[in-house]
Amino acid sequence: MDETSVTGPERSLDLTAAEMRAMGYAVVDRLVDRIEGLDGAPAWRGATRAEMRERLAPMAPGEPTPFETLLEELAGAVLPYRGSVDHPRFFAFVPSCPTWPGILGDLLAAGLNVFQGTWLESAGPSALELEVLSWFKEWVGYPESAAGLLMSGGSAANLTGMVTARTERLGASWDDGVLYVSRQTHSSVERAARILGFRSDRIRTIAVDDGFRMRPAGLRRAIVEDRARGLRPFLVVANGGATSTGAVDPLAELAEVCEGEGAWLHVDAAYGGFAILADRGRAALAGLGRADSITLDPHKWLFQPFEAGCLLVRRGRDLVDAFHIMPDYLQDTEVERGALPDDAEVNFADRGPQLTRSFRALKIWLTVRFWGLDRIRESVARGIALAERAEDRIRRSPTLELLSPAALGIVCFHGPDGEAADAERIRRLSESGVGMISSTRVGGRYALRLCILNHRSRWEDVETVISHLERPV
Ligand SMILES: *Cc1c(COP(=O)(O)O)cnc(C)c1O
Repeated sequence: MDETSVTGPERSLDLTAAEMRAMGYAVVDRLVDRIEGLDGAPAWRGATRAEMRERLAPMAPGEPTPFETLLEELAGAVLPYRGSVDHPRFFAFVPSCPTWPGILGDLLAAGLNVFQGTWLESAGPSALELEVLSWFKEWVGYPESAAGLLMSGGSAANLTGMVTARTERLGASWDDGVLYVSRQTHSSVERAARILGFRSDRIRTIAVDDGFRMRPAGLRRAIVEDRARGLRPFLVVANGGATSTGAVDPLAELAEVCEGEGAWLHVDAAYGGFAILADRGRAALAGLGRADSITLDPHKWLFQPFEAGCLLVRRGRDLVDAFHIMPDYLQDTEVERGALPDDAEVNFADRGPQLTRSFRALKIWLTVRFWGLDRIRESVARGIALAERAEDRIRRSPTLELLSPAALGIVCFHGPDGEAADAERIRRLSESGVGMISSTRVGGRYALRLCILNHRSRWEDVETVISHLERPV
């Protein structure tokens, strides 16, 4: 006979209330201790594959292990070996510094395990997602007829925006469709083009000006030429904060070109978009609301834990039209379409590639409601101001030289003695544990790059890192 018992719950995977509480409190205590000790902890610790193999024996034993033992094992062998992207002196890549209400939001969302693909299964949580999206729509200057969804990140949002553009502008066949980017465009756009089946000869790279901004005249010329060749220009992807330099393309002028030429304008504002909450950022992002679609990453400058991305589409109908499918086994979940997409009950599965979706809106709602928008605005503005002060500091440095001025929290520069020495500066900083930065290329030149958008970073943190980089190697 089969040894599997079907007679009782005594061997289910449930725990007693006391056990669950003890384990939960232990996790919260460890998280709080980590945040409390962050300033004195290394910003980064790496390891080789061989070292990690030694620390972690791969096995899934048949017998149980006490939770505390597992937490200890993780704390010793796994968790120290990472970049702490929320460390006050982590200025590499794009930092992410969630606040405590957002972290608890993700914990709650996991515990509640909401299925947020259909309204039937998540009326309340879906309404909350619509509320969060309505905030974003207002912030970027979108009308009520816009629609969107929360996603895993900017890469997923770019892909989803590009599918929407392709469907709306090219219809069922897209072999002759052409899309336009610049040298500063994020790699996720090229990856999305690959996923969507666009050959590389259907992607045009438009030249940028001295400020790394796409040239509208060059764009128009390329579109006209492609049309003369019998191709169908359909999509322009512009930057609302380029990851390398923070540069913002001339959005209003690009919108002008796109409107004139019938191309869809998608603005990738994954990291930079929430700068719109600060005065300086709003000025830099002028014209954002004219885009046909926008990518935002709340897990960057809206202080959310991973993963939280967002796509907004100005004519929300286009998003639903691109993704709506109703299979038999979901027929119970069908909803009436309203006059505006967000007026009606929404099946979020009908707006993107995921059916099973987590309740990402919860952490964002908790963060913004808990702190209030004024405090969030202040924290975004501080990142912009710190980068401007860093620019000024670098300009006055006897050894460092500016390569690109502060733009939406990013500043690029180089040392006095070439690429290898600068790479060594980065390595020494990481190894010291004091902080972390990363490099990029600016106009073909190797560049040290600071990205400052952690609400926790103060001027002393920036100063400490810059003076570390000024040391001779
Ligand atoms: C970070 C970033 C992305 C990718 O977003 P993920 O959340 O990492 O998937 C895309 N575009 C820009 C401009 C970014 O800064």
